[in-house]
Amino acid sequence: MKKHNFYAGPSILSQYTIKNTAEAILDFAGTGLSLMEVSHRGKEFVAVNDEARQLVKDLLDVPSTHEVVFLGGGASMQFCMVPYNFLKKKASYLDTGTWASKAIKEAKIFGEVDVVASSKDKNYTYIPKKYTVAPDSDYFHITTNNTIYGTQLKEIPSVSVPLAADMSSDIFSRTVDVSKYDVIYAGAQKNLAPAGVTIAIVRLEALGKAGRPVPTMLNYLTHTEKESMFNTPPVVPIFAALQTLKWYKEMGGISVLQKKNEEKAAVLYDEIDRNRLFRGTVAPEDRSLMNVCFVMNDEYADLEAEFAAYAAAAGMIGIKGHRSVGGFRASLYNAMPLESVQALVETMKSFEKTK
Ligand SMILES: *Cc1c(COP(=O)(O)O)cnc(C)c1O
Repeated sequence: MKKHNFYAGPSILSQYTIKNTAEAILDFAGTGLSLMEVSHRGKEFVAVNDEARQLVKDLLDVPSTHEVVFLGGGASMQFCMVPYNFLKKKASYLDTGTWASKAIKEAKIFGEVDVVASSKDKNYTYIPKKYTVAPDSDYFHITTNNTIYGTQLKEIPSVSVPLAADMSSDIFSRTVDVSKYDVIYAGAQKNLAPAGVTIAIVRLEALGKAGRPVPTMLNYLTHTEKESMFNTPPVVPIFAALQTLKWYKEMGGISVLQKKNEEKAAVLYDEIDRNRLFRGTVAPEDRSLMNVCFVMNDEYADLEAEFAAYAAAAGMIGIKGHRSVGGFRASLYNAMPLESVQALVETMKSFEKTK
């Protein structure tokens, strides 16, 4: 039976990425050696690293004011690296969920943190829209897509200070104006590659100005100056990332992927709204294109376990909701084909007929 992978992260990757990475693990670039056992400073891997960084720039239209680096430590490491490098006195943060509040916790180590708004009052089911960002903030931090709660910032806030963004779960899913950001970061395991590499896109002229000593490995300058080769990078995830980036380019680039993502999400949200057994958990205008959260309608609440088993038997993998939301979450990252979304919709329809 075909399996449809709706995991939130680590999550679905394109077959192109998986096959090419599997081949390189057996024989890398005709070297007769595995990708896992060659020098990261050999010309074959340096070419992979350079091409991957260049493709990030091409796909996201990264201006020459910014540099792309591959780092370790996951997006969670960026929660401290961002304030370490950019927070001089005060930073503003938007609290839209678990990841945002973890970022806020780290920032408080480094200075004054102004949480301009929070949607915690309603279990993060919406994106706050009315707030002001103090013009003397060093940056305004946003989480563009809230993986756990299924909300997404549709409009990037227009503020007078530079933005800093956690785009872990929606980078490459839609177009972005990089020039507005001092830093964008994203762990690989949602829309790019296996876990182990994190992308950061940083504004060069904003670096080295925090007014505090920054440990070498946590200083973005270390990595921009050494073209992401200061120490041994995670070679397998970077190789896999390159395959995904090539595949994105072949598909037509980010605006084409964005259209596909809008179409896929609409198919599932339409069914959630139509099907009498289910309802969405999020304010409709803030619904994520990447992570679709839904629960049983109140009068059918006792059917949750039964639907979970029914969907699993139909090949739907990874749709259990996060424990802080409950119900179901279907993640529709770039590599997810429309056919899998349609298969989930068919499963919801046929389940409804049995009730
Ligand atoms: C998954 C996720 C993280 C955490 O990523 P790690 O790589 O596990 O540290 C942070 N922010 C968002 C939005 C995420 O989806």
